[in-house]
This record gives sequence, C-alpha cells and structure tokens, in this order.
Amino acid sequence: MVKDLELISVGKTYPDGTVAVSDFDLKVEKGEFVAFLGPSGCGKSTTLRMIAGFEDITNGEVLMMGRNVTHVPPEKRPTSMIFQNYALFPHMSVRENVAFGLDVKGTPKAERDQKVDRILDMFDLEQFADRKADKLSGGQRQRIALARGLVVEPEILLLDETLGALDANLRRIIQNELKLLQRELGITFIFVTHAQSEALGLSDRVVVMSNGVVEQISAPRDLYRRPQTPFVADFIGANTLIEGTPKGAADTGFGLIETPYGVMRGVGRGDETMAVVPAEAFRIKPLGTPDEIHLSGTLASSQIVGSVGHLKVRLDEHREVAVEVQADREDVRALSPGAPVTLGVDPASVTLIHA
Ligand code: ADP
Repeated sequence: MVKDLELISVGKTYPDGTVAVSDFDLKVEKGEFVAFLGPSGCGKSTTLRMIAGFEDITNGEVLMMGRNVTHVPPEKRPTSMIFQNYALFPHMSVRENVAFGLDVKGTPKAERDQKVDRILDMFDLEQFADRKADKLSGGQRQRIALARGLVVEPEILLLDETLGALDANLRRIIQNELKLLQRELGITFIFVTHAQSEALGLSDRVVVMSNGVVEQISAPRDLYRRPQTPFVADFIGANTLIEGTPKGAADTGFGLIETPYGVMRGVGRGDETMAVVPAEAFRIKPLGTPDEIHLSGTLASSQIVGSVGHLKVRLDEHREVAVEVQADREDVRALSPGAPVTLGVDPASVTLIHA
C-alpha cells in the first residue's frame, strides 16, 4: 500500500558542518499520529522542516503518497506546518490570518471565504474573526494556528513543539482537542516534542531520536515495555539498566548472563548485554528461595506513604534501585535497613539489549 509519507535515508548537514540528521527512515500510514521525541538539539525540528520543504535535504528522499517531493517547494507539498510560536501576523485579523494560506495558493475569493467560515466555526472562533491576532489569549492563538494550518486541507499536518508555549492546564485541554480533531479529520499528524508524556499520550507511534539518529520507532506501550537501545531504556520510563556478560555458551538466543548482582536471562553468544528492568517489575523478598531471575542486595531505606511502601535496595556501592510494595506486607515491615534482601524480577518484564 502507498504510504502517506516515506523518508528514505534522509540526512542533513548544515553548511557549517553540523550533522543534524543521519539516515532517517520512516514510513507513515494515512491518518497516523506520529511524534518525534528526543532531547533538545537531536534533530527533530530539522527533520520536520525537511518534510515541510523549508530545509534542503543533504541526502535521501521524501515521498508523499508515493510521489517524490524531495525537491518540491513547501507550498506545492500536501503539508501544512504549525510553528512553536504560531507565527501569526499580529496586525492581521483572525480571519485574514486563517485565509493566508488560501491566498498564497490563489484560491478564488468565494471558495476562500466559505472555507474560512467553515473552519472558524469548527474552532469556535467566529466571534473573534475580526479581532487582531495579538489581542487574543494563548489558547485562542493556538486554535487560530491550527485553523490556519487545516484550512488548506493538507494531507499531512506538521506540528513543531506546538503546545510548548502553553501553561500546563491549557496544554492538557488542547492535547485532548488535538487528538479528537486528528481522529475526526483522519489527517496524518507529525508532531515534534521534547515532552515525553505528550508524545506517549498523543501518538500512535513515537520516533525517539538522539544526536541526529533514530533510536527506535514504536507504539508508546512498546517503548516502555521493550526499549531497544540503552538510550531509549534510560530516556523513557523509570528503568534500571544492569550490565552483564553471557554465562557459558548459550545454545539459544536466550541463555543466562552473569551480572555483578546475580544471574539473569541473557542474549548470549559473547554479546555485551544490558538487562532493562522497569521499576514495577521488581519484587522484594527477605533473603530466601530465589526466583529464576533474582538480584541480591541490602535494604537501604523504606518509607511508607499511604498504602505504598517505597523502598530503596542497594545492589552495591554504585547502584540503588527503587522498589514499590504494598505497605501492609508484614515480612517487608520486619526488615530494617542493612537487611539482606532478594529482589525477584518478573522475567517477562525484563528486556535484554545490546549494551
Ligand atoms: P531539535 O529540534 O531536536 O531541538 P534541531 O533540529 O533544531 O534539534 O537541531 C539539530 C542540530 O542541528 C543541533 O545541533 C542544532 O544546533 C543544529 N542546527 C539547527 N539549525 C541549524 C542551522 N541553521 N545551522 C547550523 N546548525 C543548525
């Protein structure tokens, strides 16, 4: 099936030699909501601007609905971009701002007015239509920016840190609106953010980037459950990363690895291995029968907050892990700091990755 958007080995080196993006591959289905997530400077905006056509591509190709648009100017692409600061024209009215993209395209006046009216109505903006854009609140400006992006009926809407300027409450409201709107319109959304909760909460798939490369492309749940690289394991969620080496010859892909704290399932075959353990996968037991997968340490501290016991278990002088238990567990309550403990780990929750 033809994809809505396809990036094939796309890269960008700026004239000053900065390699902002390398070998970016991505296929996006019609109506998908995809987030680009990563720390500041990792190349998210550069990639979005290359998709929009505002930035030349150093190497690779961009396809939209199967058509190669690598050298097609922005206004001829089936995209619309919404910028972080909304880039509204402050002295133009709301109506003029929204009509702008249609004017650029040379849409006949009657058709333009009809489309603008419809979208203003959809975003509940009719009462502000004649007000200047700089006389509006942050949330209203946000809606105008969305209306302006959508009025040209793009196939793909590109949003660059679009909610970044809003306070937390408004941000949550607009996040909900955005998700509903996207479902309703069935338009493909590509959304750039450095906020993890936003990417994981809104999108169907997340592209995690660091240093100009794609680390992992997965559904939000799989990013949590099955990180594929040390960067993702560290960046997403609250994981403990434990390095280890294979124990003996593994006859399958999953042998045992020896860690400084105990034995875990491993990838074997001489690979440097890292076990990723989500905070909720630990089970504490007083020293006793070990699980199939277990680590040993000493209780460093425990604090009861409501019905939850927050424990810290020291594995060695460098590493402490956080463990949550039911506060009413007598066996755990009987432990004092310094007591040796076993941490059982649910094997199904552990992910082994190459270090
Ligand atoms: P992000 O959106 O993830 O914060 P950017 O795509 O803005 O990252 O930037 C990626 C890298 O490219 C950074 O190292 C940034 O400093 C660099 N960069 C961005 N724009 C330019 C430019 N016009 N010229 C040179 N380097 C740039």
